[in-house]
Amino acid sequence: MTAPANQLRATPPAGHALNVEKIRAEFPILHQQVHGKPLVYLDNAATSQKPRDVIDAISRYYERDNANIHRGVHALSERATEAYEAARCAAQNFLGAALPSEIIFVRGTTEAINLVAQTFGRTRVGAGDEVIVTTMEHHSNIVPWQMLCGEKGAKLRVAPISDRGELDLEEFQKLLGPKTRLVALTHVSNALGTINPIREIVRMAHDRNVPVLVDGAQAVPHLKVDVRDLGCDFYAFSGHKVYGPTGIGVLYGKSDLLAAMPPYQGGGDMISSVTFEKTTYNKVPFKFEAGTPDVAGAIGLGAAFAYVNGLGIEKIGAHEHALLAHATEAVSAIPGVRLIGTAPQKAGVLSFLIDDIHPHDIGTILDQEGIAIRTGHHCSEPVMHRFGIPATARASFALYNTFQEVDALVRGIAKVREVFA
Ligand code: PMP
Repeated sequence: MTAPANQLRATPPAGHALNVEKIRAEFPILHQQVHGKPLVYLDNAATSQKPRDVIDAISRYYERDNANIHRGVHALSERATEAYEAARCAAQNFLGAALPSEIIFVRGTTEAINLVAQTFGRTRVGAGDEVIVTTMEHHSNIVPWQMLCGEKGAKLRVAPISDRGELDLEEFQKLLGPKTRLVALTHVSNALGTINPIREIVRMAHDRNVPVLVDGAQAVPHLKVDVRDLGCDFYAFSGHKVYGPTGIGVLYGKSDLLAAMPPYQGGGDMISSVTFEKTTYNKVPFKFEAGTPDVAGAIGLGAAFAYVNGLGIEKIGAHEHALLAHATEAVSAIPGVRLIGTAPQKAGVLSFLIDDIHPHDIGTILDQEGIAIRTGHHCSEPVMHRFGIPATARASFALYNTFQEVDALVRGIAKVREVFA
């Protein structure tokens, strides 16, 4: 899907063009001015905007079907339950999972990883054991493991990355050993854009009987993900980065692993019977969904999957790749610009620095031009330490972005340089 850097294409291959003008009409938020300029939204790695279909699905649910699920015998409760469980099947299909019960609805990637750390991790990781992560992880795929290792007397091992921001597979393989209990790594880096070779990594880990958790927060909006093809044991992502609502996300887990894991939180719905002497737990996935879930969120996420499937994830990926190629060429040609993250396999993210201008100043000046980018450490402080920098400016692309918007970014960067000249 993503060509090496020296083959970056600025136009999608034939048959892969999206009708971006039509698509933009489906996203109400895009049609506004910011500081008197048309909004150019390039902060999609933080969160993406929502199409009318998703907004309508949520409104329709509250207008017609809202009720608590799984417990009611009345019509509204049955409709709400059906819609919620249909969203689970949509997530199953989106990820290529074998069963709907392998899909657990959570708040987002962060909660999914904490769930695995606190259940699978707490029962499988003991004193002297090791958990492997990589330098390019988001804090949400570092801190839960650090907490677990601290509690258990286990060790967090970190696989290094190269100057281009690629995982060093040789060093990674050397870290895999008899004490390794889990590998937890990102599919796509939010700070660098690097796409990791997950299938190969899973094969290396499985050769040693080590399970693998993949943080897919930055992958599912851009790449076709098939968890059975990847072979991973857990896969986590957030709805809000894939055109769905905030507050909902997915944890995929292989059914035998989920069945053996203790519950995460206790409460309603996760039990099959309760007495003061003994509680027995519900079956998977309900065992992991204590309390009233985000029903509207799940339904909105189901609508987001339908939207993405309707356009075709391959076409979306090809369009974003063309935007990234154009942006990479144009931005790197600006004097004083340094790109952070130049791996041949990248998705949707352009992190950069301009001379010694602080990224926050870059972001503030671009905001005055109506251009929304993110600045800071992107919740990936170890990446910043690896490159010896405090922060970057990051533009990130989505299916509704245009080449004209990339050109606006390039003009904005020229303006930043003028201000600091
Ligand atoms: N992992 C990655 C790679 C991310 O980019 C993010 C969000 N920036 C997260 C995890 C955390 O996602 P959330 O805040 O939605 O839980």
